[in-house]
Amino acid sequence: MKQIRVVIVGGGFAAVQFAKTLRTKLPASECEILLFNRENHMVFHPLLADVAGASINVDAAAAPLRQMLPGVGCRTERVQRIDLSSSEIEFDDGNGALTLLHYDHLVIACGAESNLGIIPGMSDHAFPFKVMRDAIDLRQHIVRQMEFAEAATDPDGRRWHLSFIIVGAGFSGVEVAGEINELVRSSTRFYRNFRKDDAVVTLVHSQDQILPEVAPRLRDFAGKKMEKAGITMALNTRAVAATREGVELNNGRMLRGATVVCTIGTATSPIVQALDVPKERGRVRTTPEMRIEGQTNAWAIGDCAYIINAFDNKPSPTTGQFAERQGRQAALNLVRILKGETTKPFQFKALGQLCSIGGYQAVAEMLGVHISGFLAWLLWRGVYLFKLPTWSRRIKVALDWAWDVLFPRDLSFLNTDSAQSLTHEYYRPGDFIYRKGDLARGLSIIEEGEVEVLETAEHSSELKVIGVLGKGDFFGEAGLLGNRPHEKSVRARTPVRLAQIGSALFSQLAGSFAPIRELLFKTLTRRSGDFWRRLPLAKSLLEGESLATLIDPLPASLLTKETTLQDAVKALNESATGQLLVLDEKQRLWATFDRDGLYRVIEQIAVTPTDTQGDISQSKLGELLPGNPVYLALDDATLVASATMLDHGISWLPIVRSKDDLRPVGRLRGDRISRRLMEKLTHQQADHAQIGG
Ligand SMILES: Cc1cc2nc3c(=O)[nH]c(=O)nc-3n(C[C@H](O)[C@H](O)[C@H](O)COP(=O)(O)OP(=O)(O)OC[C@H]3O[C@@H](n4cnc5c(N)ncnc54)[C@H](O)[C@@H]3O)c2cc1C
Repeated sequence: MKQIRVVIVGGGFAAVQFAKTLRTKLPASECEILLFNRENHMVFHPLLADVAGASINVDAAAAPLRQMLPGVGCRTERVQRIDLSSSEIEFDDGNGALTLLHYDHLVIACGAESNLGIIPGMSDHAFPFKVMRDAIDLRQHIVRQMEFAEAATDPDGRRWHLSFIIVGAGFSGVEVAGEINELVRSSTRFYRNFRKDDAVVTLVHSQDQILPEVAPRLRDFAGKKMEKAGITMALNTRAVAATREGVELNNGRMLRGATVVCTIGTATSPIVQALDVPKERGRVRTTPEMRIEGQTNAWAIGDCAYIINAFDNKPSPTTGQFAERQGRQAALNLVRILKGETTKPFQFKALGQLCSIGGYQAVAEMLGVHISGFLAWLLWRGVYLFKLPTWSRRIKVALDWAWDVLFPRDLSFLNTDSAQSLTHEYYRPGDFIYRKGDLARGLSIIEEGEVEVLETAEHSSELKVIGVLGKGDFFGEAGLLGNRPHEKSVRARTPVRLAQIGSALFSQLAGSFAPIRELLFKTLTRRSGDFWRRLPLAKSLLEGESLATLIDPLPASLLTKETTLQDAVKALNESATGQLLVLDEKQRLWATFDRDGLYRVIEQIAVTPTDTQGDISQSKLGELLPGNPVYLALDDATLVASATMLDHGISWLPIVRSKDDLRPVGRLRGDRISRRLMEKLTHQQADHAQIGG
């Protein structure tokens, strides 16, 4: 019999069980099995929370695929593309080169990806909780927060470091909240500066009870036990934004905390997304035997597949238990096909559910029996211990676990320096990015939104806006270059996303790369001490001058994101001022378009490869312009407008109704401000002359 090649994409519960079963049924001479997984180990997701809580070592939750799967070719390359029509996959060899590989049968078992992008700021400030790296990073971060809390002199700061927010109270949210709570509270005896009660662990959940997947009695037990252990439940609430400060809830409350873990939000894996096959909510639809609908030699199993369970005619849930059974039954079906036998539909009665809730407690529902407490916890650990490959590993892990029950958790951490890194941050309108007097943390570059620069008015604590910065602008350089606290405050004016270059990384860049250094010093000179201080007469003349009296009406033609470049250039040529506005679908300001903008578009076209250009004149502005321009609102001061134009080297600004209503109302030209200045100066001199005469 000719040897066939079976390629498996993924190395989780489903893939491993598939490979194991197939290997036992077909000898290597008849079937080559190649399994591609991004990591060389399989992750036991249910144990990730224990890794984060330092109650087990990493090796207990990660099993090396090679040792688990003798006789299977295990590859750590990432599969980039699947071509179902030619029965080929394309994988990345790790150095950027792509290799094509033919298969006779393909099994897609690539799971799902975590997706924190569903809530503003989550991807910048929260820990995802899906892969081993997430659990290791989270553990490092928690221990570091305890060190910071020990060193903190201000009680608010200490409380912030000791506050942990977990979004989502399904299995993973509950498990990780329980473990964090246990780690922090059981470790307080090693610190002098805080006590058990200083730790705040909050579980945010959109429903009225945690663990919606388990029986009500167990759910109640879990909830009560967790509350007794000190965990706060924020039920019937949703997280609507995450910032450096914490999490904003839909009831307007801000939960402050230095650690946010987001256990909700999944996304379809990119290779599945790219497949042109029937899907249900991003999952690949399969036939009852688990072949992809419309395919004869391609299968889908596990979290990435939409498989109807013949036991109850319902879609299979995305759990490890189901993924494993699908792996086993799909492999048996493939063997049946190869032998010319009839396949069987996927059918499975769930055995039960297990969930650890921290503090050596768990809830379990096994074959209809409900167990909770320490016994359930032992059962939970026992089940996962049994799933580990090889007896040597099981014994090692069992000894580790016994050790961890008897002795305190490991509080060591690797000191990674945030001053050396590039991070991203999200701020809501009104949030301070820093205040006057704060120490400089890094250079901030605006990726989206606008900020306002504020200074404290003389002889009062009132803050005055002295400038507005938008997308592509940077700030914070003065404190870094001068190595002194910030002299001004900066506040988000709209939702803002920043890229933050850590202070040490910034010093390296500014010290070794001359063009950056020059740009920074130029900006610093321009901004230093605010130029109004050097122009007291102009400042006094413009003070109190309302923007509304100076603005020009909207241009005759308003462009939209759908306007073609050809039509936009025509409108530009017909416009008296050459200052056009581009609106989005909701009639809000989206971009500006003038001759400068046109030249930038032309430059951009020049560097775009010709074969992808097509007829560029028919391209839409939405694809060509960057969007997110600097603008001012009607109630802004003329002084701010003038400073903003000078800072950006621009001669006009679009004006919108208000910071919350971005529908444009007009334009402000720099020459209008200069003219008003001259008028006021002439009047003032005439007045002085009269008084003098
Ligand atoms: C924190 C947490 C706790 C959980 N607790 C439980 C629990 O208690 N009980 C339970 O039943 N379920 C639990 N689950 C759910 C369970 O882990 C999943 O349902 C299960 O892992 C799905 O298995 P899978 O094989 O489909 O995918 P996964 O286990 O996610 O494996 C997919 C693999 O494919 C790899 N991959 C993806 N794309 C590519 C590519 N292009 N090339 C190469 N490799 C690729 C990934 O790296 C990954 O290793 C939990 C999940 C999490 C995140």
